[in-house]
Amino acid sequence: MSKPATLSSSAAANDPVTPPADPPAEEESVRSPRSRRRAARRREETRLGLVRRARRMNRTLAVAFPEVWCELDFRTPLELAVATILSAQCTDKRVNEVTPALFARYQSARDYAEASRTELEEFIRPTGFYRNKATSLMGLGQALVEKFDGDVPHTLDELVTLPGVGRKTANVILGNAFGVPGLTVDTHFGRLVRRWAWTAETDPVKVESAVADLIEKKEWTLLSHRVIFHGRRVCHARKPACGACVLARDCPSYGEGPTSLEEAAALVRGPETEHLLALARKGVS
Ligand code: SF4
Repeated sequence: MSKPATLSSSAAANDPVTPPADPPAEEESVRSPRSRRRAARRREETRLGLVRRARRMNRTLAVAFPEVWCELDFRTPLELAVATILSAQCTDKRVNEVTPALFARYQSARDYAEASRTELEEFIRPTGFYRNKATSLMGLGQALVEKFDGDVPHTLDELVTLPGVGRKTANVILGNAFGVPGLTVDTHFGRLVRRWAWTAETDPVKVESAVADLIEKKEWTLLSHRVIFHGRRVCHARKPACGACVLARDCPSYGEGPTSLEEAAALVRGPETEHLLALARKGVS
């Protein structure tokens, strides 16, 4: 149901640990004149201009990343819920190493509800915070058995009542297991949409609401994946690859990273690198 993973949680669970803060934005005074002109233009941007720019950036990302997917491996909604809970403060790659044995041993909500804590903790120990995560998984199993006949519900309101399932996890489950559009506001997503001046909000729920007002609902799940892919491969927190970025024309933060193609190209990561660099050379943005 999903393809192999690379990096950390597109979908961390209820965020038992606060993620690291973004580094401070570069001071206006040390930005290039081009960056300052862009920033000034953005300050004057109308609401309609912002909507158009955001949707154009989403279309550009669709060209850059024509194939996107949830980077956690799963076959059922329950497996996705479990993998998403395990992905909190852990890479998807590590979660995917752990889940084959876990899913073979625990196949139903009742299996988690009746799990031996010691045994369950051993299965999930490599993902970190394994005691809290074991508590969440056992609570999840119990709640599913008691309230939903062992099935994972498919509404946001019901999902967020489950132990270990916050809005972010609920949206991951809705979007990837049930085909219901959902915005997944993880660290990458929040960092990038603020960099793009789509919103200045830092609270994930407010970020979700702001982006929902900009982007068509049917695009929400794919947009979430595209933004996360872009954040992992190109728009890094500390040194974004601006010179090799397909969004350069529309990004008010262009210039926060190196703007020469040669220097920026060395920063691009992932299997799409050649494709992304070809687009950047062609000036697709
Ligand atoms: S231009 Fe730079 S800051 Fe903007 S999205 Fe691209 S890599 Fe990120």
